[in-house]
Amino acid sequence: MTPFLDYKGIEVSGRIVFGLVRAFGPFKELASQILLAEQVGHKATDGTILVDPKAWYAFGGFQRAFARAGRLLGDSVLHQIGVSVAKCAQWAPNTGDLQAMAVQMDRAYHLNHRKHGRVMWDPATDHIQEGIGHYRCTLRPGGTIEIEATNPHPCSFDKGLILGGMRVLNVMGGIFHEETHPCRKRGHSSCLYVVRVPAASSYRVEECSSGGSAEAVHPRSGGHERGQHHRGGEREEDGVIGRLANEIHA
Ligand SMILES: [Zn+2]
Repeated sequence: MTPFLDYKGIEVSGRIVFGLVRAFGPFKELASQILLAEQVGHKATDGTILVDPKAWYAFGGFQRAFARAGRLLGDSVLHQIGVSVAKCAQWAPNTGDLQAMAVQMDRAYHLNHRKHGRVMWDPATDHIQEGIGHYRCTLRPGGTIEIEATNPHPCSFDKGLILGGMRVLNVMGGIFHEETHPCRKRGHSSCLYVVRVPAASSYRVEECSSGGSAEAVHPRSGGHERGQHHRGGEREEDGVIGRLANEIHA
């Protein structure tokens, strides 16, 4: 894996940084501490971080902030950050269904980063600049999607990012990252995620894993009777982060 210091000239979109802050909900102070400690963003008059979604921030510092968040708060929070970032990121064109979104994921990833002032995916030429790794998508028979992540993000973040993409599209299904697969957390250079969706995927996402321990989004017969469409939103994310924040400050 490329050391963080080697990302000179590479920046991440403020939309992504904003997604991280948003994942913390009312615990913005904690997100502020993590980002400001790595010189990402600026301090507002109230002491919390000021992030401009239209600005660009140092990629290396942002990756160190991920590492810091993982050390302080664990995988569940990295997972929640991934879900939140998926909602804030700029997606590539033609991502109306999950297969298309997975195929376009690497382009979207590079669309949200720039190198020496140039956005790393050029839609006009389809050229991608190297430097931040990739997401490689393979569509398997039966609708199974494999996504290999060879970028410097933490494993849990990318799992959350994929889940967040499914939420954006209101697609249900499961994300599997089995022990037999390589994993960056175990020192490998990549992680392999397998996404399975039912053949007739017309259900809305109504229950998601908070905390990252369960990756499956479960189908329910009839889809929406339970009236819980929104229970997996910010309140659950706040719950995970809030509990951990209290433990840290205890
Ligand atoms: Zn992994």
